[in-house]
Amino acid sequence: MEDFETRPAYFEGKFIPLKDANLNIRTHALQYATAFFGGMRGYFNASKNNLYVFHLEDHHRRLRQSAKILQFHWKMPFEEFREITLKILREGNWRENCYMRPFVYKSDLSMSPRLHNVEDKFALYAIPLNDYLDTKRGLKAQVSSWVRLSDNQIPARAKATGGYINSALAKSEALENGFDEAIFLNQHGFVCEGSAENLFLVRDGVLVTPGYNASILEGIIRRTVIEIAQSMGIKTVERDISRTELYVADEVFFSGTGAQIAWIESIDRRIIGDGKMGSVTSKIREKFFQIANAEAPEFNHYLTPVY
Ligand code: PMP
Repeated sequence: MEDFETRPAYFEGKFIPLKDANLNIRTHALQYATAFFGGMRGYFNASKNNLYVFHLEDHHRRLRQSAKILQFHWKMPFEEFREITLKILREGNWRENCYMRPFVYKSDLSMSPRLHNVEDKFALYAIPLNDYLDTKRGLKAQVSSWVRLSDNQIPARAKATGGYINSALAKSEALENGFDEAIFLNQHGFVCEGSAENLFLVRDGVLVTPGYNASILEGIIRRTVIEIAQSMGIKTVERDISRTELYVADEVFFSGTGAQIAWIESIDRRIIGDGKMGSVTSKIREKFFQIANAEAPEFNHYLTPVY
């Protein structure tokens, strides 16, 4: 057993070792994927000997939005969410980069897929995590043969567990075809997002990304990227992107809590730009890591120090 599995998780209203936080196989969320979740990162800064949770408040807000869309009862106030998160990290004495998974699941054992009148519960655990995608080299991406779920099917905005079957189909297809990651088109045939990342391209110095009406998850790092760009005087446009515009872009990169800023070297075997990390990606990436590691004081409001 890994050391972190003996550290506390929050489960059924209590703090217990992660290894003991287990569900009944009859749980509604397991049968019908009636759950939604978040993914948050903690960055450990060794010189400051402190761990910083990135965007805690934004994650709470998005979870509350998911609850609303999916008819969950969960209305945990931010203060309580914050206290639970900090307690897990402090009592687990986390002093390394980590990933926290808050999730809310339909916890009763009743039959029938529905959302109303089913009890739900909140859980949270942490695991160690450095890179999720390799951010030091360029990624090889593939436009997926799987189409992104639309807002009228399983809304990506709600970060619903069930929607991740769509992501899993695309990710496995990409990996088994020798690529690193998938890029979804949406139901209108426009570029959407990766299996677990938002997507940006750069053309003539302008940052372009699909808008909130493109069936994307409203990514927290997507917003951070737009803010970083703004602070550097780089213009961002949110609009539809066609598949072949990816091929002729100067730069393309993914953003996300897991992915961080991950640059894409080729898409469908077409080299992007000159096949190197572009200057806009590189500037945004550098700033991103400064912010996350508490080395950009003007962005410190995004960080919650644990100690
Ligand atoms: N899209 C999808 C489908 C995701 O799973 C994620 C990861 N949460 C993202 C985009 C990026 O979102 P965020 O920046 O909030 O991590």
